[in-house]
Amino acid sequence: MLLTCPNCKTKNFLDPYPFWNFKGTTKCAGCAKIWRIETSSGACVKGPDAADGQPDLLPGFAEKQDYSPISGPGLTRPAPRARKDAVCKPIPIQRNIRGNAVSGRPLKKEDLIGSRPKFIAGRK
Ligand SMILES: [Zn+2]
Repeated sequence: MLLTCPNCKTKNFLDPYPFWNFKGTTKCAGCAKIWRIETSSGACVKGPDAADGQPDLLPGFAEKQDYSPISGPGLTRPAPRARKDAVCKPIPIQRNIRGNAVSGRPLKKEDLIGSRPKFIAGRK
């Protein structure tokens, strides 16, 4: 979805998933004005109306009228991550019920003693 700012004509791209059915405020990445919008099934049904305060959700991406991109902290939302607990960190080590490490990092060599290679052996 696209929110063209009535104030500065910046095109704010609103991610379909969080803004699909949305009622609240977002912030223009170009001029920092707060807009109240209401969407239903991915279409804007109300707004944009001028508002103030903190935005509920930031646009995913924005570009100026000359197509130069705008993004960054406080202007647009960071991309969603699959595992919030492991962003820029080692993957947490998980252990099976016997206490042996089965996945994660960093594993030491002694963590792997007793583990089996993962393949399916054919029976004879
Ligand atoms: Zn604007």
